[in-house]
Amino acid sequence: MEEELKEKLFKSSKTGWEDIDSEKKRDIYNFSNGYMEFLNKAKTEREFIAEAVKVAREKGFRDILEFEKLNPGDKVFYINREKSIYLAIIGNKPIEEGMNIIGAHVDSPRLDLKPNPLYEDSGLAYLKTHYYGGIKKYQWTTIPLSLHGVIVKADGEKVYINIGEDENDPIFTITDLLPHLAQEQMEKKLKEGINGEDLNLLLGSIPYNNKQVPESVKLNMLSILNDKYGITESDLTSAELEVVPAFKARTLGLDGSMVAAYGQDDKICSYTSFTAMMELDNVEKTAVCILSDKEEIGSMGNTGMESHVFDYFISEVLNKLGVNRPNLLDKVFCYSKMLSADVDAGFDPIYASVSDKTNAGFIGKGISLNKYTGARGKSGASDANAEYVAYVRNILESNNIKYQIAELGKVDIGGGGTIAYILANKGVDVIDCGVPLLSMHAPYEVTSKYDVYSAYRTYKAFWIAS
Ligand code: MN
Ligand code: MN
Repeated sequence: MEEELKEKLFKSSKTGWEDIDSEKKRDIYNFSNGYMEFLNKAKTEREFIAEAVKVAREKGFRDILEFEKLNPGDKVFYINREKSIYLAIIGNKPIEEGMNIIGAHVDSPRLDLKPNPLYEDSGLAYLKTHYYGGIKKYQWTTIPLSLHGVIVKADGEKVYINIGEDENDPIFTITDLLPHLAQEQMEKKLKEGINGEDLNLLLGSIPYNNKQVPESVKLNMLSILNDKYGITESDLTSAELEVVPAFKARTLGLDGSMVAAYGQDDKICSYTSFTAMMELDNVEKTAVCILSDKEEIGSMGNTGMESHVFDYFISEVLNKLGVNRPNLLDKVFCYSKMLSADVDAGFDPIYASVSDKTNAGFIGKGISLNKYTGARGKSGASDANAEYVAYVRNILESNNIKYQIAELGKVDIGGGGTIAYILANKGVDVIDCGVPLLSMHAPYEVTSKYDVYSAYRTYKAFWIAS
């Protein structure tokens, strides 16, 4: 009796695995295998965009510049400087009725090389770094690291670099002090234990021609780089070289239920939303997928969501649909709906004290909604209105998709920004909707395969809804 009434009146907070038979489990595991394969090919924003463009072209998407006119069913994209992409499928309904947008980000915390990175000290060559995004510095020492990115020569020629992912490649690392000599370091606060200026990548140790003269190890490194890529030290100044963990994405757990990988914030929402869009054909409302850059450092710059490049893309869509007129762009945004697809902090029982257990996202319980992400009085939050939360709930419930609604940490702890507020400022209805993660921003982040799959189902259902 009481159990029945509970079933009827309580909000369910059961694990997603409860309703999973062996067939569904196979679907979930297969989908996650595709996700992990993609992660291994796309560790940086540029690599993600390059892979995404390949897939999108195969699925019939074309650059908007290739279209004279757009019609319902057309599939278009716009690449923003190799680091961000916007994709759209033109809907059957007039675009004036609004668009269904899903926006994720493809950049992840990492170490960027400084503009003058290379130096030699005591017979060892190093590359200096400046970390990108919110990291715990101690986590980035004594792990295998790889070097990815692009070097642009003064004449514009681009050299793409990827060292440390292939089994036959060397890897790099950042050293830490042996415990025997670390008494002083161990007394420091955790955040001061490793200094930002000490995150230097160990690059090599043999002097040029095996002769120890000043800077001969540095010379040897440049000689190797010159042989392989035809570059000089000056070319390193016009480069974007990123140091990321050399770990492969792997299945985690005896039951195979989880994914351990670098960069799941936010490539998990990028991959699942992008994959869902690749499977769409006829949509009622124009479906838009944003894969943005620079979220981890505040969405600034012309590839970040704060730039007006996305507005330009939508304006071009309006132009090529032949419907544009003054203020139409504003109107379209005001009638649009969006899922800000970004990760949520998964409840970690080892660190339970930072979360309110009744308002936390748990891994394995499905997609996680954040009505707002600000803390300490909802400061800085884009707070989704109740009507819109109901709209999203209805899509999830009518498609039988398990979801949870959470805050990122306790009231006076935490909070965190996403791109939600930027679209909300344009008048779009937005809610944060993503996958809960353990060890967010660490070199190896953990997610549940159940949630990976449920993100994909959520994003697909949202685009199909009209
Ligand atoms: Mn994120
Ligand atoms: Mn992040």
